[in-house]
Amino acid sequence: MPTEATFLLAALLIIAAASGFAFKIYSDRDRDLPPRISADYIRGLNLVLNRKTDEALELFVQMAKVDEDTLETHFALGHLFRRRGEVERAIRVHENLLARPTLNETQRHQALFSLAEDYLGAGLFDRAEQFLTQVIDSPTLAEASLEKLVYIYEREQEWQKAIDAQRKLEMLSGAKSSQVAHYYCELAEIARAGGNRQLAREHLKNAVRSQSGVLRGALIRAALAQEEGDFVEACALYEQVIAADRHFVSEVLPSLMICYREAGRGADLESYLQRLISRDATLQRDFAYAAVISNLTDSPTLATCVERFVFEHPVLASLVNADELKQLPDEQRHRAIARIAQGLRQVALLSARYRCSNCGYSTQRFIWHCPSCKLWETIRPIQTFALESVLV
Ligand SMILES: [Zn+2]
Repeated sequence: MPTEATFLLAALLIIAAASGFAFKIYSDRDRDLPPRISADYIRGLNLVLNRKTDEALELFVQMAKVDEDTLETHFALGHLFRRRGEVERAIRVHENLLARPTLNETQRHQALFSLAEDYLGAGLFDRAEQFLTQVIDSPTLAEASLEKLVYIYEREQEWQKAIDAQRKLEMLSGAKSSQVAHYYCELAEIARAGGNRQLAREHLKNAVRSQSGVLRGALIRAALAQEEGDFVEACALYEQVIAADRHFVSEVLPSLMICYREAGRGADLESYLQRLISRDATLQRDFAYAAVISNLTDSPTLATCVERFVFEHPVLASLVNADELKQLPDEQRHRAIARIAQGLRQVALLSARYRCSNCGYSTQRFIWHCPSCKLWETIRPIQTFALESVLV
């Protein structure tokens, strides 16, 4: 049982500390070390073993002396409290340590870092940040502190601070990360939402540091170009996204169709779609999904993709009696397919539309940062109809 194990571990730590004292007292009698400390630890041991946690805590906090020999025990005790979810007690232990004037710089940094971990465990990010920023120049704890600061800034969506902390971390570790590109993309999207397209573009210049930044950056640039009425540029950028990752077909196709139409190039859209299908016939399934989910009805190529999807799907074809449908005159068949597409859309909208390729987290809304595994750009549109959900 974890609780038992925790108590036993605490007891062992205290025994270790007490025996350390006993040994020291026994072997260095001449130095006449104060026996009171050893007695306190034995009392602490008894209290912990008797599960009188509050009394044990008070005893440790009130101990007059925290020195080299007892310091690790105090840290271990604070750590144990935090692991058990007793964050307030952990904070008391670490605050007590920090208040000791005899701590050297390394020990003080460790106490500050431990307090930050306590506050992080309690979800008090502001307090955790205050302590972590005091440790970012520590020779031993700088990297760990910066990693936690990046985590906090991500959670708090303070993107510029996240960039600064991540850059410092990269300088220390020598490793480049792809997430900074996403922080710049976040800033670009905020600027775009605020109508400041020039600032958005400046942020995007910094985002092109990794493949992930390129894809997301292209999507934001496309949206900026579309807002500015540069539909030819927007088309090129949307097509670039589809070429880079076909999973984005369903996300991009509605905007791409609008831009083709606005640019007066409706016929070019059909040849673009046909060109992609001739290179990879399996794209028809993605086009069918995109057409159904976004109700894209005015493209003959997409309509054909939807019809083929219905007729060739092993389950759907028998459910809708595809052989009979194929015999119907064009107009009646198109109406029937439109009704089936409407049903499929309802199925798709009731199911998870996006899934993280790393941890399997699924969501109805597209996001770049997985809230479960905390990785960036691992969530992708699923682009399949969960027909099994309506067959049970
Ligand atoms: Zn994930």
